Amino acid sequence: MQMTSKYNGTCTRCNGSISKGEHINWNRGQGAQHFMCDEDTIMKGGKTLKQLAIEWDQEHKNDLTFCERVDQMTNSREYRNVPEDAIFQYANEDTQRNPYR
Ligand SMILES: [Zn+2]
Repeated sequence: MQMTSKYNGTCTRCNGSISKGEHINWNRGQGAQHFMCDEDTIMKGGKTLKQLAIEWDQEHKNDLTFCERVDQMTNSREYRNVPEDAIFQYANEDTQRNPYR
């Protein structure tokens, strides 16, 4: 049944956190679950948010990490005269984050 959570807790479906006051589905035996759980959120293309997040990780697993980008820039001629804090900023801007998490 739908209700407002009386406690902070964990969603038994996605293991995400539930805050006190949040709209939840609760069933005896099943426990509390997000009313709109990520596991069930179907996005454009018919995939769940969770599937999209996993696929994004797969697609970007060969991306440079933030540290690798900094190293690469620091060692390149092009950035020879660029101050270190600017390099950190560029590297940060170039590092993509999973938009589905
Ligand atoms: Zn959930």
